[in-house]
Amino acid sequence: MTASERDLLVAGVDVGGTNIEVGLVDDRHEVHGRAKAPTPTGGPDEVLDTISRLIASLDADPVAVGVGIPGVVHEGAVLTVPNLAGWHERFDLVASLQERIDLPIALGNDANVGLLGEWLAGAARGARNVLGLWMGTGVGGGLILDGRPFNGARGAAGEIGHVVVLAGGALCTCGRRGCAEAYAGRRSMRGVASAMVDAGWTTSLFDIRDDEDKSSLTSKVWARALDEDDALATKLFDTAVETLGVAVGSAINLLDLEVVVVGGGLAEKLGSDLADRIAAAAEPWMLRPSPDLRFVVSELEDDAGVVGAASLARAAIVTG
Ligand SMILES: [Zn+2]
Repeated sequence: MTASERDLLVAGVDVGGTNIEVGLVDDRHEVHGRAKAPTPTGGPDEVLDTISRLIASLDADPVAVGVGIPGVVHEGAVLTVPNLAGWHERFDLVASLQERIDLPIALGNDANVGLLGEWLAGAARGARNVLGLWMGTGVGGGLILDGRPFNGARGAAGEIGHVVVLAGGALCTCGRRGCAEAYAGRRSMRGVASAMVDAGWTTSLFDIRDDEDKSSLTSKVWARALDEDDALATKLFDTAVETLGVAVGSAINLLDLEVVVVGGGLAEKLGSDLADRIAAAAEPWMLRPSPDLRFVVSELEDDAGVVGAASLARAAIVTG
């Protein structure tokens, strides 16, 4: 790398429920160096300490830092973070991180930032109207509309997981009933699996979990159970796909999308087959989809968040 190339490097930070990943990204969205650590459970200050330490461990000094975090984000502050331990109230992340790292800092919601990465450098390159659908512990989403990232009035747009697919349906992690996430988020699916086992069903899901030495039903555990034709896992996963089809079909009717990018751990494990299945599940609910409509899986995988966050940082340098 030449000195001039090095000058252009920005750090992208992807704060996840399990790990914090940091990468040095150039202006062609390529990642040059990476660092990773488990996400601390002691709240915002511990997370910022970890971010600072990871950035300091990289091979070169970035000129700006972009952070994606799983919460509602507005004007440099994190309003709510339901899936990180110890985050209970609004937190001015940009100001606090700037006290540790004296650089331009940008902040975005993790799902929106992940889609930004896929849109700039991955599966949704060149499209003007895109939905990102991230299947993980919950079901996250992001939007590109009319060629621009769309965050909504207070940064909360794109929550495809909390589109209601069945009024009065299953209890969701958000406290409401009938959301897509109540059927298709891994945390909800695990709850249903446990209840079904209590009701007399058998499944290899929990044995696979122990065999893989995991503490929860991860994407890898689900992928293995599906591969082994476990009846309960197959039934729950079929329901998840059907449910996502309802939500995505409705989103397409509302927004006239060109591309749906399916990402998250399960997309990495199942590949384009998962995108094809969600496309088939959405089709009966679509009014008049674009003839160019495509369902694809993410290309950048773990790097999507890092690349997207870095691009936010790059924009922050330009706009000051
Ligand atoms: Zn919900």
